[in-house]
Amino acid sequence: MSTKEELKARICEIIDQRSQEVIGIAQHILENPEPGFREQKTARFVQEQFDKLELPHKDGLALTGVKSWVDGGSPGPTVAVIGELDSLRVFEHPKADPETGAAHACGHHAQIGMMLGAAMGLRLSGVLSELAGRVVFFAVPAEELIEVEYRDGLRRDGKIEFIGGKPELIRLGEFDDVDLAMMTHTTSVPDDRKLALSGTNNGLVVKQIQYVGRGAHAGGSPHLGINALNAAMLGIQGINALRETWRGDDTIRVHPIITRGGDAVSAVPSDVRMETFVRGSNIDAVLEWDKKVDRALRAGAMAVGAKVHITTIPGYLPLNNNQDMAGLYRDNAVQIVGEENIGFTGHRTGSTDMGDISQIIPTIHPYTGGATGIGHGADYLVHDWEQAVINPAKVMAMSVVDLLYGDAAKAREVMGTTRLPLTKDEYLKLLRGFAREEEWQG
Ligand SMILES: [Zn+2]
Ligand SMILES: [Zn+2]
Repeated sequence: MSTKEELKARICEIIDQRSQEVIGIAQHILENPEPGFREQKTARFVQEQFDKLELPHKDGLALTGVKSWVDGGSPGPTVAVIGELDSLRVFEHPKADPETGAAHACGHHAQIGMMLGAAMGLRLSGVLSELAGRVVFFAVPAEELIEVEYRDGLRRDGKIEFIGGKPELIRLGEFDDVDLAMMTHTTSVPDDRKLALSGTNNGLVVKQIQYVGRGAHAGGSPHLGINALNAAMLGIQGINALRETWRGDDTIRVHPIITRGGDAVSAVPSDVRMETFVRGSNIDAVLEWDKKVDRALRAGAMAVGAKVHITTIPGYLPLNNNQDMAGLYRDNAVQIVGEENIGFTGHRTGSTDMGDISQIIPTIHPYTGGATGIGHGADYLVHDWEQAVINPAKVMAMSVVDLLYGDAAKAREVMGTTRLPLTKDEYLKLLRGFAREEEWQG
């Protein structure tokens, strides 16, 4: 029987030996970006990597997800190491696909590298016989909440129910066998240092809005028209008028865009479309602002006598990091990068569907440095591959050892002491409760 520290040293040695291959995986994905639910090439590439490691895998989960697993020497809990497959769309990014604009401007390519690096370390070091339970390596689709219209089409065609990858995988039961979950996201924020533990993130719902008015000659007979653009602008003004009622701790974010503003300048706009997210730090705040935003949108229709059609689509739930798991991760991170290079992110007002996982499974979502530029921007690039891919691969694999060592006592302890906000059934009920379509005539 080896000590935990001996097992961790063997894993890190393997990951170091394979570091060029692991970094190469991340770089290959950087060169072949695909947005969510379209990650066919990326998924095939991940399948090939699992094949090379002689690991079994299930493919095509939530359209493109790939799930692999490996067992320890005795039965026990399952820990998932997750990486996200999808890119964003940023046409100006130097690594953008010139046709689709797909670009890895959020660092998910590094995540697939580190997930596979952790898989190599655990698989090839021979440590598994001294661990209990199972490790799942999970390449998951569609974390970025973009292309809402495309995904709504998939939803209406019955190909998916939820427009994010992890909610969809939860619905399909692909997290039913997972007891603990972890991933590491890249960051370019200098204050995060080399590895950062994270606190919480906002959750959100998505709204698609259509104002329907009546077209008429804008110069000759505007009195015969109903101006849908004016209705939309008043709807936005209504949201803006509510901003002073936000409570600080709820960290509300509502940021609408107009995606269709009129068709001909000589005609009164009759069909104006908008999209918005409604974000908040807790589920109650999202529920409250979901309704307030609808009220403001209806006011725009009422003022000019237009009709408003509001489609609300469930987005992501707020993220809570499990502090016990964060503690182990931190201890391992200190070993790899040193105490002085550990950061803490506090609350973030963006959103991730790792939040959904964290509502039903003990979860951590720490950050790794190694990137520069603005997240989701044209200049977001990994410059330190060792930090962005190799170090988090080691820290995650080491944390798996802590959880599953011996009889997986630590994993069992975390599972026994964590009070999760929701069961899977409550989660699905909550998400489905957000989904609705409303038509309102002003
Ligand atoms: Zn992102
Ligand atoms: Zn991301």
